[in-house]
Amino acid sequence: MMKDQFIFEKLEMGCWHDYEWINRVGVAWQCRCGHEAYLPIDFLINPDFSTWEGFGKLWEAAKEKEWWKEFLVWLRMCKFETKFHNEVEQIVEYIHPTRFRDELADFLPWEGE
Ligand SMILES: [Zn+2]
Repeated sequence: MMKDQFIFEKLEMGCWHDYEWINRVGVAWQCRCGHEAYLPIDFLINPDFSTWEGFGKLWEAAKEKEWWKEFLVWLRMCKFETKFHNEVEQIVEYIHPTRFRDELADFLPWEGE
């Protein structure tokens, strides 16, 4: 399982589509949730949290979680580096797709590679 999929499922953001080839007129691929794909480009429908679009989705979903404040405290306590002059500067550092995704994965915690 990839890191993005792990986070997506942990945050209960929906179905991480995984298509199977089906042989039906007009439909090439289908996910267990019923989502259908027609073209290879449709496989890109799962979010990529390393992009700014993915970051926005992840940020909004994480903010809704009951552990959001706990995550911010964890970030402050466990991830504070001397290069940050204050907490605002630190939080601003994490308004970034991969930095935010990777810290969130650490917090959940992600034990993959
Ligand atoms: Zn699906």
